Amino acid sequence: MNRDDANEVDRIMNADNKKINFTMQTQTKTMKELVQEKWNKRPLIISGPCSAETEEQVVETAIRLAKTGKVDILRAGIWKPRTKPGMFEGIGVKGLAWLDKAKKITGLPITVEVATAKHVEDALQFDVDVLWIGARTTVNPFSVQAVADALRGVDIPVLIKNPIHPELDLWIGGMERLQKAGVQQVGMIHRGFSNYGNTEYRNAPMWHLPIEMKRRFPEMLLICDPSHICGNRTMLQAVAQKSIDLDFGGLMIESHIDPDNAWSDAKQQITPERLAEMLNELIWRSEHTDAKEFITALAILREQINHIDDELLTLIGQRMKIADKIGEYKKNNNITILQTNRWNDILEKAFKKGEHLGLGKEFITKYFDAIHLESINHQNKIMNE
Ligand code: PEP
Ligand code: MN
Repeated sequence: MNRDDANEVDRIMNADNKKINFTMQTQTKTMKELVQEKWNKRPLIISGPCSAETEEQVVETAIRLAKTGKVDILRAGIWKPRTKPGMFEGIGVKGLAWLDKAKKITGLPITVEVATAKHVEDALQFDVDVLWIGARTTVNPFSVQAVADALRGVDIPVLIKNPIHPELDLWIGGMERLQKAGVQQVGMIHRGFSNYGNTEYRNAPMWHLPIEMKRRFPEMLLICDPSHICGNRTMLQAVAQKSIDLDFGGLMIESHIDPDNAWSDAKQQITPERLAEMLNELIWRSEHTDAKEFITALAILREQINHIDDELLTLIGQRMKIADKIGEYKKNNNITILQTNRWNDILEKAFKKGEHLGLGKEFITKYFDAIHLESINHQNKIMNE
């Protein structure tokens, strides 16, 4: 922050809250109208600290974020679900007053995580504009139901993060609980799925899962939270870009005025200025275009893909017919279905060929595992007929 900004923050911090008439976004709309506009904006950008820590930190973060002109909603964790006791568990209700102050100064709508009915009650008292349900809450239907019940008759948008483990039905169940309680605007946040052991991600993105959610709920807002997927700063840009390439509706990224000294999730937070740079460097693509040439070229390529997919399926069907024959032969000769050496040979050959064709080992393994399983099922059926 330059000296002028620092002076400005000082001035604001020392001013009486009620006398503040400085807003960084000149607004003629009501806050409700602004929130509606933001909710429908693509990409929707949410940022702010993992946790509210002090009044200065919340207000300064908000001012610096608002100055980027790129952030739509200010986030901060007030109650933090921590893995172990004794860690910083959130500043609690007094942080809501700081967020309210940050909103009045910057004009940015605010969002916090809620996990209990009391959280909802407190957040509503402080006119929080959007709520989100965290990954550790989505896993618990009792908790989601309690939050949903507390929201009956309340008109407020709610975002729901995926559960920490990869179970889409729980995520969908959470959305349904909210909708059944009358919440009109429900959106999803993809924050990755926890895995045992060290992987490059804090929470594996398992992109096929949010893609499936998008397929099932094409109209629903789905944003990505690269901060909790990565757990570090280095991969943030790449993960954010990937989500944009997959046509996500926006991003939630944690930011802090002094990331290294944040009270929670220090490794993954970035300064508001770094966030602005990151957003600038992202390549925003859109799902649709009116450019005729592009549409024609795409249609031709897709037709080729459809044709190849069709052939692949026919070939796989033929392969299974041969497996059926082998099954019969094995049955008549009393031989086991699984012959490990044969399978290792097939895989080794496929790895070698895959290398020339630009197909990764992981893909080859998954592909052949699926083919193998189907083949075993076929043979099993034959042998037990
Ligand atoms: C958070 O957003 O700070 C948070 C606790 O995230 P999650 O629920 O994804 O773990
Ligand atoms: Mn966090």
